[in-house]
Amino acid sequence: MKTMKSLALFAIVSVMIISCQKKEITDEVQQVSSEPTKEQLDKLFNMGVNIDAVTIEEITMLDGSINKYLVSGDILIPVTDFDKYPELKPLSGDNKQYRDDNIVSPNYRNIDILGYTGGSFALTSKMQTALRWAVNNYNALSNSLNFNLTFGTSYGPADIVVYKINVAGGGGNAGFPNLLGQPYKWVRINAGTDGFSTNVNEHVIGHEIGHCLGLRHQDWYNRQSCGYTGPLPAEPPAIWIPGTPISPFADSIMLACFGAGEDGEFTETDKNALNILY
Ligand SMILES: [Zn+2]
Repeated sequence: MKTMKSLALFAIVSVMIISCQKKEITDEVQQVSSEPTKEQLDKLFNMGVNIDAVTIEEITMLDGSINKYLVSGDILIPVTDFDKYPELKPLSGDNKQYRDDNIVSPNYRNIDILGYTGGSFALTSKMQTALRWAVNNYNALSNSLNFNLTFGTSYGPADIVVYKINVAGGGGNAGFPNLLGQPYKWVRINAGTDGFSTNVNEHVIGHEIGHCLGLRHQDWYNRQSCGYTGPLPAEPPAIWIPGTPISPFADSIMLACFGAGEDGEFTETDKNALNILY
């Protein structure tokens, strides 16, 4: 019963997170899941990840690797070595920022990003265009990140691989940089995203790449963008990046939920955050 309830809750919340619209969810999302421990939830919270509906899922990636992941909305974090993942800590006073070990380390900032074009995992032509736009947005920033985009099937050497998964609702998922400071490798875009505009695809892909670089959700603690209307906490629990607003939490490509009218572009606060981190 407990598993059933957890599954049902996860399914409901997933729909909200990935699309804000009522969409069918495929078996890929509804596979067997288990519940995280309190220790894991505490750790996730301290990493700046929403813990309202976290599950543990066994997921197969494009290269055939199968691992267990803690899943919070569109964020996947490997259970292996989870204990070693760094928590977010303020640097000093009000000037809080992600610590260096939560982002991509200097050695890995020339990023080879692959748009996958093989078989059923191939990005649609709309998604490929959107990926070009999203990467152009990142490369237009004057910071230490540099993306080299190619299309094909050689996922091995790529730092980030963007591919399509058989999930009906719009959205996708990704994870955070690993313990070596490499960007998270797999950006999985739901097939249903193709039903939205190219701009929305650009938004979703740009958002997931943001996770790969270490960005959290701007409204991670309450998912305000997903329809939350309750009171705000007396003291914001998040770790804020200087230059990003702490209210009203709604001017970032990194909001937890997106709408059908997204333009896919960075906001000024997104640019500030990325330029400060990198
Ligand atoms: Zn996200």
